[in-house]
Amino acid sequence: MTSELVERAASLLLEARRTVVLTGAGISTPSGIPDFRSPGDGLWAQREPEDVASLRAFLRDPAAFAAWLRPLLCRIMEAEPNPAHRALAELEQAGLVRAIITQNIDGLHQRAGSQRVLELHGHLREGTCLRCGRRVSMARFIETFVASGELSRCSECGGILKPDIVLFGEVLPEDVLVEAEEEVASCDLIWVVGSSLVVAPASFLPRYALAHGAGLIIANREATPLDPLAELILRGDVAELLPAIAAACYGLLSGGRYPHS
Ligand code: NAD
Repeated sequence: MTSELVERAASLLLEARRTVVLTGAGISTPSGIPDFRSPGDGLWAQREPEDVASLRAFLRDPAAFAAWLRPLLCRIMEAEPNPAHRALAELEQAGLVRAIITQNIDGLHQRAGSQRVLELHGHLREGTCLRCGRRVSMARFIETFVASGELSRCSECGGILKPDIVLFGEVLPEDVLVEAEEEVASCDLIWVVGSSLVVAPASFLPRYALAHGAGLIIANREATPLDPLAELILRGDVAELLPAIAAACYGLLSGGRYPHS
């Protein structure tokens, strides 16, 4: 990655009035959590995520679903935020990032210190009983599930507890989606970080921003379908790219070329 591209990204961030970041599983691979589509990791290489991580698959065969989910949750439980998460938290603190819209369920943005995080695909903090609809805090259940592989059961009715993550075939939480669309409609720069941009409706958000006149930056190791529409493409490891871009922003700011309001 050339320093010119890093400087260019920093200039675009400093020139923008409202930057919104859309993150995907690629921002968390440096924390040890595999994504779905990078070649070579192999954790899910044998199965299409849409086949196994769907609500239908969960209801049809909860045990098979649990066997698929457990390795991901093990990695999430062990993971720490990496320099890319921390760079985004610092850029928000510096007033250069307005919001993060994430497809991730790992909670690492919040643990890195980001304040405004819209979790499009839900999270693991709470869950719902699939039989009686009771809402529960999931922390203890997730620990037990990771340790034993046993799916958590509702203490009231014995139904299976499903964490509040959005599986393929489920609708996204409406309030979060509405807020994300509002952020995207009012931003003048959208910055995609570590996403293949193939999972809808998250993948529509950059197009929506473009339709409202925003610019698009994509930081991803591999090509995405929206690359032809991007103002700037950064190829490389986001754990190296993002701290470099943040440092370039601070350098330009301290040089006085961009008095940021
Ligand atoms: P994806 O797996 O489809 O794509 C990830 C992209 O990130 C790939 O194009 C890959 O080239 C790129 N990438 C991977 N590591 C990178 C790095 N270090 N630097 C730069 N680029 C890197 O992920 P997606 O687009 O987020 O969609 C997959 C779905 O899987 C989402 O719904 C997401 O919720 C879910 N998921 C979440 C987690 C998590 O919470 N950490 C993990 C796996 C899957």
